[in-house]
Formats: sequence, C-alpha cells, structure tokens
Amino acid sequence: KLHNEIQELKGNIRVYCRVRPFLPSQKDKQSTIDYIGENGEIIVANPAKPGKECRKSFKFNKVYGPNATQAEVYGDIQQLVQSVLDGYNVCIFAYGQTGSGKTYTMSGPDKGSQEEWGVNYRALNDLFRISQSRSTYKYEVGKGTPERTISVLFLNSRTLGILATASLAVPDANMREVNEPSDVLRLMEIGFKNRARSTTSMNERSSRSHSVVTIHVHGTDLKNGGSLNAGLHLVDLAGSERIDRAEVVGDRLKEAQHINKSLAALGDVIFSLAQKSPHVPFRNSKLTQVLQASLGN
Ligand code: ADP
Ligand code: MG
Repeated sequence: KLHNEIQELKGNIRVYCRVRPFLPSQKDKQSTIDYIGENGEIIVANPAKPGKECRKSFKFNKVYGPNATQAEVYGDIQQLVQSVLDGYNVCIFAYGQTGSGKTYTMSGPDKGSQEEWGVNYRALNDLFRISQSRSTYKYEVGKGTPERTISVLFLNSRTLGILATASLAVPDANMREVNEPSDVLRLMEIGFKNRARSTTSMNERSSRSHSVVTIHVHGTDLKNGGSLNAGLHLVDLAGSERIDRAEVVGDRLKEAQHINKSLAALGDVIFSLAQKSPHVPFRNSKLTQVLQASLGN
C-alpha cells in the first residue's frame, strides 16, 4: 500500500502553506488571514479594507494554521523522506518572504528542544534510523565517493553568484563524510556559522542566500546485489520579497537581482514540471542546475 501511495505521489509536486503565529514583538496583531479550510483553502483579506473585492482565495494541498507543530508539519512529508531509501529523489523547499518562518520550519529555532526540531533534523534522523534498521538493504553511510554517501552540501549566495556562469562544480561547498545524525547536526552548525561569519547580520545574510542541504544515499540490495542511488535536497530559499531598486545599491542590488532571478528560474522549472512540459529550463540558474536530479525524471 505504501509503495502504491508513493508511486501515486511520485513525480508530483505538492504545495503546503504554513501560517506563522504572531510574534511577541508584533504589536499590531491584525491578521490578514480570513479563513483556513480543512481542504487546503485559505482566504486572505486586508482588514483595513473590508469588503468582498479585497478577499483572495488560494488553494494548497494543505494549510497549516498558526498552532501547527513541527511534528505535524513533518508528519505529512515523512513518507516522502523515507522514500529516498527506496531510491526516489526528493526535494523539499521552504519558500516565502523574509520573516515568514522558512528557517523555523526547516531548521527549527536556535537551540530548540527536540520537539522544536525542523524538517532537516527530523529527516536526517529518519534516514539514519531507518537505514540502520533495514535488513534487506545495506546502506552506505560515510563511505566511498560523495555520491555514495549521506553527505551535506552548503551553498551560499556567494557560491551561487560566482558560479552562475561557471561549471557545476561547487568548489567551496563542504562535502564531508558522516556516520551518524550527530555528525550531520555538527556539519550543519558549522555551515550556518560560516555563513554567519561572512556577514554583519546573520538574519540579513540568510534572507539573501539559499541554503541547500543534500543527503546522498547509496543502498545495496542484499538479496540480489542490485543497488540504488538517491538524494534528498532540503532547501531553505532566500527571501522572496521584492527588492526596491531605490533602496538597494551596488553589490547588494546585484545580489538581490541574482536571488530574484534564481527564484524566478525555480518557478519556471516547477511550472514546466507541473505542466509535464517536454522542455524544462533547468539550466537558467545555478540553483535549478544543482537540484536538477531531484526535480526532474
Ligand atoms: P524566515 O526564515 O522565513 O526569514 P524565520 O524562520 O526566521 O523566517 O521566522 C521569523 C521569526 O518567526 C523567527 O523568530 C522564528 O523563530 C519565528 N517563527 C516562525 N515560524 C514560527 C512558528 N511556526 N512558531 C513560532 N515561531 C515561529
Ligand atoms: Mg531564514
């Protein structure tokens, strides 16, 4: 049954919407969310301009309200993560403007308890746990060539920028061998710290860069010696807000334009995939090139 379900979902794109709760620092607690339906419908309205014409309805696979827990959100994608161990390539994105809760959803809060762990940690934990418990497959963890290991790859905006017109090699990405979840957690921390060091403000930096954690899995079928390779990409995208040209100049403007370009290229790729178009424009940005194997075929 599980196999059929995954078969059904395979190749499909699902879009979930998560509504962040108000923050303690938010004084004006007027919500623009008018209605959240069980069926994935959400209606957004501007409370300052009441009336039917300013209400907009959107449809998602599912909408999580402000009280949804990290565990609930992960619960709906857990099967997909597990399908990586069956050889499926999976890609999970967090998309939204700065402050909307992307990093909270993917990583969880800084120094959060296990309950607050985000998708990244839960996914890694599952991959390690299940790969070690399966008796029909032997999974290689931390051995062999990069594409045969579970490893972690960080891309920051500078990397993406420099490589925008270059080859697919990612020279300053960290790809290291890991043996257990704690190794990966440590790697993630190093990556995020490195990213923070290269800037004045961690928050500003992260809103202007894509972070991509890639976990490669190689498995050998112990019965017939067959093998599988698959990857899980966990992507915390740069903020999707529009940049005001009047406010941003020089390198920051270039960076902002680059981010907008790469988000637009990702949008084009997802649109083409959803349309089952024969031509998918993967090559228009570094981001979509890096993710090609997980997004396509
Ligand atoms: P983004 O990465 O999209 O810029 P963050 O994940 O940093 O946004 O979220 C902005 C702030 O809101 C952070 O302080 C974060 O801890 C908080 N936050 C986001 N989502 C939630 C949530 N579901 N529950 C509680 N706090 C949240
Ligand atoms: Mg963030």
